[in-house]
Parts: sequence; structure tokens; C-alpha cells
Amino acid sequence: MPADEVCGISGCGQKAARSLSTKKVKEVLPGMSLVSDARRTHLCRDHYRQFRKATKEERELERLGW
Ligand SMILES: [Zn+2]
Repeated sequence: MPADEVCGISGCGQKAARSLSTKKVKEVLPGMSLVSDARRTHLCRDHYRQFRKATKEERELERLGW
């Protein structure tokens, strides 16, 4: 991964930790505005944690039926 890859969330600018499908990022974090509309979006560690937390909560709530 090139050294200058940064988080794709607008206004963040932190170093990218993960690369994800842009479509998925938009689905999971609809409130976030993205820097680019490319096929893949890079997320920094913090935003990736938010992303994972959001997906996990969705799935677990459905599975547990709370
Ligand atoms: Zn970020």
C-alpha cells in the first residue's frame, strides 16, 4: 500500500488502515461524506472501528431478536 494512502472520510486525513468497498461503507455509515467515489474506500483505524461496530450491532441485534 502506498505510504500516502489516507482515510477516505472527508475531513479525517488519518493514515488508512483498511480498504473497503465504497458501496459497503456508504451502506453502513450513511452519515459520512467520502472524499472520493472510487470503487474502494480506505478507512483509518478509528473509522474502521466505527464501521465494524455498526455492522456488528446491526447483525447481532437481528440475530438475537432483542
Ligand atoms: Zn478516518
